[in-house]
Amino acid sequence: MIESWILNELFQDLTDPFLIMALVLVVIHFGTPLAYYWYAKTQWLPKPWNIRVDGNYRPKVTVIVPTYNEAGFIEKKLDNVYQQDYPRDKVEVIVVDSASNDGTPEKVKQWSMKHPDFHVKLVQEPVRRGMAHALRTGFSYVKGDVVVITDADAIWEDPDTLKEVVKWLSCKGVGAVSCIKVPYRSKGFEETYRQYYNVLRVAESRAWSTPIFHGELSAFKKEFLEKVGGFPLGVGSAESLAAMKIAALGYRAITPDTITVSELIPQSNYVWWRIRRAQHLILHLVKTLRYLKHYNSSFKQVVLMEAYFHLINSWLFITGAVLLLYATLALRSILSSIFLALGLVLLPIRSYRVWVTNQLFLVVAQLRNLWRKELVWSKQRKL
Ligand code: GDP
Ligand code: MN
Repeated sequence: MIESWILNELFQDLTDPFLIMALVLVVIHFGTPLAYYWYAKTQWLPKPWNIRVDGNYRPKVTVIVPTYNEAGFIEKKLDNVYQQDYPRDKVEVIVVDSASNDGTPEKVKQWSMKHPDFHVKLVQEPVRRGMAHALRTGFSYVKGDVVVITDADAIWEDPDTLKEVVKWLSCKGVGAVSCIKVPYRSKGFEETYRQYYNVLRVAESRAWSTPIFHGELSAFKKEFLEKVGGFPLGVGSAESLAAMKIAALGYRAITPDTITVSELIPQSNYVWWRIRRAQHLILHLVKTLRYLKHYNSSFKQVVLMEAYFHLINSWLFITGAVLLLYATLALRSILSSIFLALGLVLLPIRSYRVWVTNQLFLVVAQLRNLWRKELVWSKQRKL
């Protein structure tokens, strides 16, 4: 008797338009990225690079380090570049400081006095206008054929990093190169996120190019950067948009898995850090859509998919969850409550938890972008 009542209820639930709608949204939400990830991993990742490299190419390289209150890191950063196994007379570092008040410029000056065999230039902006502006300023001083930008708090663990970067750039068809990122001494959330993320960046790069670059290390052929008017303003990740403008000229923008950079993860305020970065990424993808018509069909698909994942897909999840909640509470749908419970029960699975949290970051980031784009941000403390 009771069983048949329950079955009857469940059956009725199944015809509930709220529930059906919610299920469709949730299936699309989880299905598209899973399918994309699977496709990228099985079809693109094993592809040959189709890149002809010259391991002996040694162009003059200019490394731009933008700094705002990096007194705690800048010396280590300069040491890190100094320790690169690359002809010293072919490396020039430009530190662009934007009115730091913690003694960063003084540290740069002291460091360069102690290393007369290394070319370090300090450019000081009188006011802070954000990282993109600093990169733009730095670019006007560049003498090298290759421009590399890097964060003060990013560590190039491998002394052959610069060699590797120019190796990939030695190919005529490559315009820009970035890195994959490994969280420094940080397990857990960030690591899980990066595991999947890095696979996608490399797979997309092998297919042709990836639309997402990193401030921890992004390198450009200077002539192309000049052609696209240098680093763009009005975005949080100028390096990614510059790369996408170069891709629009027909040159590849890639992140090879042989270039790895360690990055420090904030110990506190992690959530806001991730939201700020999501804001930058979202803004970047919106701007990249403008170049879509210049891309080949496979890269068009990549850009459209990434734009979809960062702009639309998270809303499907939120809407689906709200509909399920409504059906559970207002319509007393048993089936809806079962699905909701399932969504919660799965939370101990780390990949799922990281995914869901990331959807919330993306939604908050989109909303925040409406009134504050975080082009000048307060620094998260990192250890
Ligand atoms: P995160 O890696 O996303 O946490 O961003 P960071 O706070 O590490 O900033 C990236 C790099 O840009 C760091 O080297 C910062 O010092 C630098 N930076 C951030 N804002 C400014 C700015 O307004 N001017 C300059 N010159 N550098 C900045
Ligand atoms: Mn950083």
